[in-house]
Amino acid sequence: MTTGQRQFPCKNCGANLQFAPGTTALVCPYCGTLNEIAAAEGRVEELDFNTHLTQLAEADVGVEVMLVHCNACGAETTLGANVTAGRCPFCASPVVAASAQSSPTTH
Ligand SMILES: [Zn+2]
Ligand SMILES: [Zn+2]
Repeated sequence: MTTGQRQFPCKNCGANLQFAPGTTALVCPYCGTLNEIAAAEGRVEELDFNTHLTQLAEADVGVEVMLVHCNACGAETTLGANVTAGRCPFCASPVVAASAQSSPTTH
């Protein structure tokens, strides 16, 4: 029975390692390399700040916000998911959502 087990190639020697659900790290029996299983549920490590925010926004469907960066004062603030522009709460300068900024136009 291999049900519930997954195969994971050793990052150092490529050997097929098997691990049980819930395992987050596995030492290769062949070369001794510690392989961390990144996809393990419930364990999130070393995410960069923006990725963390994105995942928070996606995970919590009740709070749909978009992080925006004020060009005037450098503050970070959030806009509603359906809002593409607003005002910085710190300096009142106009701010626009990052997705809208990716296609600069001169209106
Ligand atoms: Zn190995
Ligand atoms: Zn500002």
